[in-house]
Amino acid sequence: MSNTIKLFENSSYISKFNATVLECIEVAQGDKFHQIYEYKAILDKTAFYPEGGGQPSDRGTISIISHSPSNQKLNSKTIPVLDVHEKNGIIYHYISSPLNKNDSVECTIDWDFRFMLMQHHTGEHIVSGLINKHFGFNNVGFHMGESYVTIDIDNKLTQENLDFIENAANTTVQKNLGVKIDCPVPDELDLLNYRSKKHIDSDIRIVSVPGADMCACCGTHVKTTGEVGIIKFLSSQNYKGGTRVYMLCGKRALKDYNKKNKILYDISAQLSTKPENAHESVSQIKSERDRLKYENAALMDKIFEYRAAAIDKNLDKIILFEENLLPSDLLKFSSHLTKDRNNIVLLFSGSDERGYKYLISSSTMDIRPVADSFNDIFNAKGGGKGNCIQGTVKAHKSDILEYIEPYDFNLSPNI
Ligand SMILES: [Zn+2]
Repeated sequence: MSNTIKLFENSSYISKFNATVLECIEVAQGDKFHQIYEYKAILDKTAFYPEGGGQPSDRGTISIISHSPSNQKLNSKTIPVLDVHEKNGIIYHYISSPLNKNDSVECTIDWDFRFMLMQHHTGEHIVSGLINKHFGFNNVGFHMGESYVTIDIDNKLTQENLDFIENAANTTVQKNLGVKIDCPVPDELDLLNYRSKKHIDSDIRIVSVPGADMCACCGTHVKTTGEVGIIKFLSSQNYKGGTRVYMLCGKRALKDYNKKNKILYDISAQLSTKPENAHESVSQIKSERDRLKYENAALMDKIFEYRAAAIDKNLDKIILFEENLLPSDLLKFSSHLTKDRNNIVLLFSGSDERGYKYLISSSTMDIRPVADSFNDIFNAKGGGKGNCIQGTVKAHKSDILEYIEPYDFNLSPNI
């Protein structure tokens, strides 16, 4: 079978085309629990871009064209194109219903999705080309995800570098320069200084953006840089010794801006401040929260100290159930309850429904055997040092009390 004619190579703007089905092959996809039989159709020509070079495959539909007795054209059946792949020059269209050999079909590309991909793909060329031009670094990975695009660069870029590139990239967009596609002959190719992501055996297609990029690429691009709309870097991170840049272009960047703008205005409204002052207000609230946390901790410590002082010093066993104490509160409370005493303290915080955090401690005893038997009986989890065990238990207060109140803790000092 001869190679599929790739209509997208000559024009990225073909969104509708007619073709003839050369073959439709049944394929099994999924696992044994989710087996769905699909088909892959081969057409004589296609504008559906197959997944490759970081660009996802196109989506769209294939309609079987049928004719009425008076030879009027009728679209009888429309099948969604689920995926598109290329192997050895043949492009396969993955569909859920079969087509017949020699069927005449009318194909429609999901244009909004494709144009979004073209904007991001062209934006990626501009950014990667400018990084290469100004810093000499290479693009070593490119992925167009559902939420953002990532570009992996083989060296470290500072925030200042990225700000510079983002600005230069948007200047390239605003100049509305023509994006040129050429297929130079080998002699001409030798004279060109172009970026190439991988070795390509077939005819090399060179994509050029004046002043920004010249790169071997077989993907789909917009005709002029202005169509990219805007190039916005979202963030960056160190990645495999280089830099991963998160980016959005065009309407997706606008959508992202709108979403974040709304979040900022909502936060500002809650803080009763202007959006430009929201950051400072949040910093003030955080500082105030930290101060209150510190003050609250000191007050809780005082409360624990007073409550401990009100409990008879000669009690050899103190059992208390609290409602909302943190593990750190339990620790503080127990330190007051065991200070200068020969006792064992069993503190619980929580409820029968949620379960309890517990702390068993003594300043004079090794309480590990007590904790071990408690954990065994109630299937509780906990650990710690010889004089303090902390953990969690899912049991009812009445059952816990029934077990520990009569328990002989044998308070002989052995630490
Ligand atoms: Zn490209």
